[in-house]
Amino acid sequence: MIELPVRSLLVVVSAPSGGGKTTLCERLLGEFHQMVYSVSCTTRAPRDGETDGTDYYFISDEEFERRVQANEFVEHATVHGHRYGTLRRFIERGFASGRDVLMDIDVQGAEQIRASLASLPPSDPLCRGFVDVFIAPPSIDVLRKRLHLRGKDADAVIERRLQQAENELQRWREYRYLIVNDRLDASYDALRAIIVAEHHRLLNATA
Ligand code: 5GP
Repeated sequence: MIELPVRSLLVVVSAPSGGGKTTLCERLLGEFHQMVYSVSCTTRAPRDGETDGTDYYFISDEEFERRVQANEFVEHATVHGHRYGTLRRFIERGFASGRDVLMDIDVQGAEQIRASLASLPPSDPLCRGFVDVFIAPPSIDVLRKRLHLRGKDADAVIERRLQQAENELQRWREYRYLIVNDRLDASYDALRAIIVAEHHRLLNATA
């Protein structure tokens, strides 16, 4: 038997809200048990059903700023008027334990991660394991319907999110993979195929 190296993926998934990203990420985590979800910090209030420490760490503006100053975030951004940030320690711990790390972040965060990776040598495990996937709704109208059906946000909030979505949708070309989420099952099959293929690429990575 050849001894296979343990190599982790750093999976970045971005999608406008209502794009079906949360469901897809939950299914990934349910299937790939070596994958951990990077729980972000946010200054927005929890929605119904969200749990502190599982969905997000819900923190104050002051606490967020303190963490920015303490360099605790690998990236942070303001989305829909609230601040969001990825904790450095989540990624470090995930990689140290040989697990894949799944990050659900917006286009600005993905851009910052790519920029930080560009300053590392290509053989760095973070560079080697980096995979970015953009999940797009089939259309803005479909997204509007999904956001209303979800019933979690007020109409004005939904309109703001749709406007933001139009801006984000312009940026799918920055990602290696694009999934148009028309049917959830087909999208999940595509996402899991990406993870499986990327693991095989990593096994054979010489860089
Ligand atoms: P929501 O408030 O609907 O959970 O998330 C709003 C947006 O913030 C989504 O596009 C989500 O991907 C993004 N987001 C969540 N956590 C982070 C983070 O840590 N960093 C960045 N840049 N975006 C995040």
